[in-house]
Amino acid sequence: MLDNFNELNANKLNDENLDMMSGILLEEQIMNNILSENQEARLLSGKEVAAAIMDDNLARANNLQRHGCNPTLAIFRIGERPDDIYYENSIKRHCEKVGVRCQTLALPTNIREDELAAMLTQTSQDHSIHGIFFFSPLPHQLNETYLRSLINPAKDVDCLSRAAQAELYFGDSAQGFAPCTAAAVMEMLRYYQIPLVGKQVVVLGRSLVVGRPLAMLLLHANATVTIAHSKSENLSQVCWQADIVVAAVGKPRLVQGGWLRPGQVVIDVGANDDPDNGGKMCGDVDFNAAKGMVSAITPVPGGVGLVTTAILCRHVIEAAERQVGINA
Ligand code: NAP
Repeated sequence: MLDNFNELNANKLNDENLDMMSGILLEEQIMNNILSENQEARLLSGKEVAAAIMDDNLARANNLQRHGCNPTLAIFRIGERPDDIYYENSIKRHCEKVGVRCQTLALPTNIREDELAAMLTQTSQDHSIHGIFFFSPLPHQLNETYLRSLINPAKDVDCLSRAAQAELYFGDSAQGFAPCTAAAVMEMLRYYQIPLVGKQVVVLGRSLVVGRPLAMLLLHANATVTIAHSKSENLSQVCWQADIVVAAVGKPRLVQGGWLRPGQVVIDVGANDDPDNGGKMCGDVDFNAAKGMVSAITPVPGGVGLVTTAILCRHVIEAAERQVGINA
């Protein structure tokens, strides 16, 4: 009896060892494919990832419509900042492609706090609206933290309120939504099967919108995370020792080729006006220097930015699914 038990357990252990071994071999194979040395970096295209997300968005939005639900996003835009209008148009284009409705409330910069508060509260209670998004920073007369707190957590598709931000720290993705850019970085890493468990990831930047929430998501994915910022010393060394470098600082080409080494994956979140190329955009990483050095890198433009908008669209659909009780 005992022998049978031991034999059974021995077989089970062998199976587990084999599973573990095949897991390790698979991970090594992926790392070899992605992190191969001595060749130009693999381009991690945001376009490809965004297209895959949008295909899924379309199927899920169609399913919602079959259930009589038209997923709808309310966008609050205060003023006429060109960057906001550009992003708003991109959001609308993405949403329209899959049948997600967008309603923009374009408001004057001298709007009173109580007026905006009343609108946010009413929209938060409106059953025909599933997601709420607003551009920031808000004009100085408006208390942004207070106004963000008025967003119904179930509709907070870009993690604007403190309540949604707290959920992120508890790792409860079933409750809230991560900020779209942080979620976009995670989606890119997932899509390209870049292993995270036990890997050293450096996040440059600690903003509440990108760096900090991203660090939390990476931690939940069992990466070993270092957060660096403007007061960090020896940034080049901090970057050099990482397996994955994520740059979200808003400084054109801050990360130079010499900060990087072969085998690394670089995710560039930066979306900066290129000081050397008027009217063009560049990232936080010196792309031309990095691409001959590392194994994989996201381009700017054409990287994380494209995925962010597709993720926002996904969050609106997911919010609608949760509100009408449909499992994706
Ligand atoms: P942010 O709020 O200005 O935060 C920048 C962060 O970078 C801060 O934590 C700052 O450190 C750190 N930093 C600044 N200079 C640094 C330096 N020389 N060395 C190390 N760290 C430094 O910016 P953000 O909103 O997080 O955005 C960051 C970048 O991502 C920008 O280029 C933005 O345009 C881009 N972005 C892209 C998307 C997208 O979808 N692609 C979305 C959002 C933002 P301190 O905390 O010490 O000040």
